Amino acid sequence: MPNSYDVVVIGAGTGGYVAAIRAAQLGRKVAVVEKQKALGGTCLIWGCIPTKALLEHAHALKVIQSAKEWGVTIPAGTPAIDMGQVQSRKDRIVTGLTKGIEFLFKKNKIDWIKGTARLAGKGKIDIYEGETQTLEAKEIIVATGSAARSVPGIEIDHTCIITSDDAIGLKDVPKSLAIMGSGAVGVEFASIYRRFGSDVTLIELLPRLVPSEDEAVSAELEKSFTKQGIKAMTGTKVTKAVAGPSGVDIEAQTPDGKTQKLSADFLLVATGRGAVTAGLGAEDAGLKLENGYIKVDEMYRTSVPNVSAIGDVITLGTGGHPQLAHLSSAEGILVAERIAGQEVRPINYDHVPSCTYCDPEIGSVGLTEAEARQRGYDVRVGSFPFGVLGRARMAGESEGFVKIVADKKYDEVLGVHMIGPRSTELVAEAVLALRLECTVEELIKTIHAHPTFSEAVGEAAHAAHGAAIHL
Ligand SMILES: Cc1cc2nc3c(=O)[nH]c(=O)nc-3n(C[C@H](O)[C@H](O)[C@H](O)COP(=O)(O)OP(=O)(O)OC[C@H]3O[C@@H](n4cnc5c(N)ncnc54)[C@H](O)[C@@H]3O)c2cc1C
Repeated sequence: MPNSYDVVVIGAGTGGYVAAIRAAQLGRKVAVVEKQKALGGTCLIWGCIPTKALLEHAHALKVIQSAKEWGVTIPAGTPAIDMGQVQSRKDRIVTGLTKGIEFLFKKNKIDWIKGTARLAGKGKIDIYEGETQTLEAKEIIVATGSAARSVPGIEIDHTCIITSDDAIGLKDVPKSLAIMGSGAVGVEFASIYRRFGSDVTLIELLPRLVPSEDEAVSAELEKSFTKQGIKAMTGTKVTKAVAGPSGVDIEAQTPDGKTQKLSADFLLVATGRGAVTAGLGAEDAGLKLENGYIKVDEMYRTSVPNVSAIGDVITLGTGGHPQLAHLSSAEGILVAERIAGQEVRPINYDHVPSCTYCDPEIGSVGLTEAEARQRGYDVRVGSFPFGVLGRARMAGESEGFVKIVADKKYDEVLGVHMIGPRSTELVAEAVLALRLECTVEELIKTIHAHPTFSEAVGEAAHAAHGAAIHL
């Protein structure tokens, strides 16, 4: 007799485990199938958590490196990073959090089936590796996530040509690191290893760093990276990478069509991630795929009744679906509530914040200035630099700005883009502003405490009305 559940979730990443908890909270009998030895998926094991732990180490080193400025005396010697200690602290943080999910599963009476799942048709799931068995479910949620992928011609060997999964575990600080791709993953590793002491070269195919951010943010990041000694090669395509005994030889085509050769200890391929559906039996079960991603509607229903899909593995068929932990969780909650018969509304993808934890940090939500113009808005913008703020100066973090993009006609805030200290936290106010369809005027009337970094948001709103107080 197969084990029967109301809901079986395949994959225990931030999409799957959150969907499972919400479904259990709503009284459903839930099992989660996860093939890894720990719960939490990409975010906890290889993504958000380990990278941000490494970035906190880089930040600690940055503060210590400017000890003299802070009036802190350090006995002779140059502060340096101890990778053994860095890695063991990072691993402790990851283990603590993955164990925390195990605790939450027990608390919510969710069964963790340890193995690899395949859709076996009509509410059946075969576990064909690990605890082999067949499960029955009234509802199935596929949350199998994504994995690093390369581009044609560049072969990942996990020794010299590596992915982010390898880069989080390096035992020594590389002398040199080339990074292909300057999206969130690429620029975060650039910040980590440059601070740790590596020579870092970022190679980006498009004409600017962090290409999905507002252009002003890209320009500010490139300025800061150049100051920090990170070499940025934009508009440049890696055409060849050959791993040898002492590193990797790279050829790249620069914007003027010339071939540039460079060598590095490692080439980190950070050009994006592909959906994980191998072995899932998705197509045999009748699920429609598009470029490998599972096609869903705005309620995350697949083409097969009672099978939903969420997170990195999906496409809504409208172009890119952002691969973000908090978005996968929001989609998981929505599906669990829909299955339980609650009224749910589609997610507005213009209101999903995006945070990049490089140094300086980037936080953004909503339309960039260019996107707002493309959509036909009569746009007004206001920017305020962190450097003017007392709080930023006290913290010794005065790079960057907050930029507000608004609609002139109704004064509605359409997007907020920030680069600089605490931007990944400050963006929360902007997310709420967009969700509540706030006007610039309302942001101006919102009193921001002094002295705080958040004053930059209020002042950017004043600037959008041509009346910044401190400029
Ligand atoms: C280096 C890096 C840094 C990142 N930093 C951030 C960040 O700061 N903020 C942010 O929002 N996002 C970040 N992300 C993205 C974020 O990690 C993902 O968007 C998120 O993890 C997606 O969650 P998911 O549940 O869809 O899939 P995943 O987390 O990938 O989970 C899928 C799970 O399914 C399991 N699985 C797959 N197939 C099967 C099967 N057939 N049977 C059983 N189990 C299966 C996998 O083992 C995995 O555990 C980062 C990603 C990377 C790589």
